[in-house]
Amino acid sequence: MEENKDMFLNADPEKALEVLRHSASHLLAHAVLELFPGTQVGIGPAVENAFYYDFLRAEPFSLEDLEAIERKMKELAGADLPIEKITISKPEAIRLFKELGQDLKVELIQEKAGDQVTCYRQGKFIDFCLGPHLSSTGQIKHFKLLSVSGAYWKGDEKGKQLQRIYGTAFFTKQELDNYLLLLEEAKKRDHRRLGPELDLFSFNEDLGGGLVLWHPKGAVIRYVIENFWREEHVKGGYDYLYTPHLAKLDVWRRSGHTEFYDAMFPPLESENIEYEIKPMNCPFHIMVYNSKQRSYRDLPIRYAELGTVYRYERSGVLHGLLRVRGFTQDDAHIFCRSDQLEEEVIKAVRFAKHFFTAFGFKEYEIFLSTRPEKYVGKIEDWDKAEAALKQALADADLAYKIDEGAGVFYGPKIDIKVKDVLKRSWQCTTVQLDFNLSERFDLSYTGEDGKDHRPFMIHRALLGSLERFFGLLIEHFNGNFPLWLAPVQVAILPIAERHHEYAGKLDTFLKNGKVRSQADLRREKINYKIREAESQKIPLILVIGDKEVASESASLRIHGQGDKGPVNLADFLAKVTRLIDDKSLTVIF
Ligand SMILES: [Zn+2]
Ligand SMILES: [Zn+2]
Repeated sequence: MEENKDMFLNADPEKALEVLRHSASHLLAHAVLELFPGTQVGIGPAVENAFYYDFLRAEPFSLEDLEAIERKMKELAGADLPIEKITISKPEAIRLFKELGQDLKVELIQEKAGDQVTCYRQGKFIDFCLGPHLSSTGQIKHFKLLSVSGAYWKGDEKGKQLQRIYGTAFFTKQELDNYLLLLEEAKKRDHRRLGPELDLFSFNEDLGGGLVLWHPKGAVIRYVIENFWREEHVKGGYDYLYTPHLAKLDVWRRSGHTEFYDAMFPPLESENIEYEIKPMNCPFHIMVYNSKQRSYRDLPIRYAELGTVYRYERSGVLHGLLRVRGFTQDDAHIFCRSDQLEEEVIKAVRFAKHFFTAFGFKEYEIFLSTRPEKYVGKIEDWDKAEAALKQALADADLAYKIDEGAGVFYGPKIDIKVKDVLKRSWQCTTVQLDFNLSERFDLSYTGEDGKDHRPFMIHRALLGSLERFFGLLIEHFNGNFPLWLAPVQVAILPIAERHHEYAGKLDTFLKNGKVRSQADLRREKINYKIREAESQKIPLILVIGDKEVASESASLRIHGQGDKGPVNLADFLAKVTRLIDDKSLTVIF
């Protein structure tokens, strides 16, 4: 592969970028060692849209340091140093990196290398690395260092603390500039910033990290989503469940979670019985299924629940609404016969697409993960399930990639990531077969033949978690929620106190018409009130003055569009109602 590198790079643009970025990470480490001798280097891979390198150094890298490192990288790239692959024996490699004072590399070589060790060298810099790489540093032209953060050696919290410098690289200046612009835009839309600004949610260290407080405006959006979700599930033939947040530890022993799942909080004990807070809803739904003998005529059974689960995440990895410790899954479990499997999977995938369309998402990234080497269940069931998953994606006209052998041991699955307006992918939907829990909990139904049969069991989440999906919506819409989701849909702004009474009546009129309106009766200047309503991104603003009171009308402003002039109230309500019912993504009057 090394020999045909250029041909290979041309053939696969994604792989080419990975090689470029990995080469840029070597350039970064090279520059750091030139500028800060004595620094130890850890690992430096290409990651999605970026690359990084980890460094062990007592002094923290400052922003000025990053600028200096970037300049040094440009200099080393300008020198167009050849990047050479060399192979040496393991003892030789260990001696070499020991001499260089690179103890972390010595550790890696001791752990990972075979008898022969592959290294890459450019100028005075040498790295233990499998490659592949570009052939010279001059090919790395368009790059930018982005940030520095903390990291642990080998991800071990008790291990050495390293500094991780992130950067990105592209083959053209245009692509790099576009990407940097996108990062700027993403920063502006960051839900961790918009959340407090729009008073949607908060975290509180006194409460505990990763536990979300939904404020009134965020809570409105959540219940609108939940109501929509419930209604659609009723239409889709699901039964709704509520299940507890705790279960005896024995339940999690039986499900295998105590053995295989490491994100559980420690158990709690009462009356000498150990309980575990739930990290998943599955065993509960299974218990409802198992609460009586099922017949082939009862199937399919589809149980849905907005089930709140708790998972232990290290405090260092918590990230806004995207990585939390308590979250509500839009969960479901489907139990069906073999002859129903394909249709059930098709329905689930169509259902997911239906939801994303309602929220305005049109692009997806989809992966189908198939049977790994170690698996449970019968091979013919796996084959049948994989075929059903493929059929479902074809039916929904969705392009996908196959992750051959990358399924979890208990069943194949589909993962659907939606792309937001900035083309970033967000993991949402999972449709996952399970041959493990059905066995462990001995699921069965009585067949037409009067004998016991094992049903197929499917785990299914569409939006993923409400918290994470909310984070996605905030960033996708930049806080400008479409009318049907907006916490306040109409702001009513009287100009003077003598207009308050009419404003109050108008508020009642709209509320009775199921519109979320809010009258601003503070003694503030009208321009101030308008500015505030605009900064709160309220889609529709009705201004009330003498003229409007006299003619029983209102003067309309649309967020981001400005003045629209006078509106008749009955027409206004009818139009708003239609926009809400249609889940319109734009507001046009
Ligand atoms: Zn490398
Ligand atoms: Zn499940």
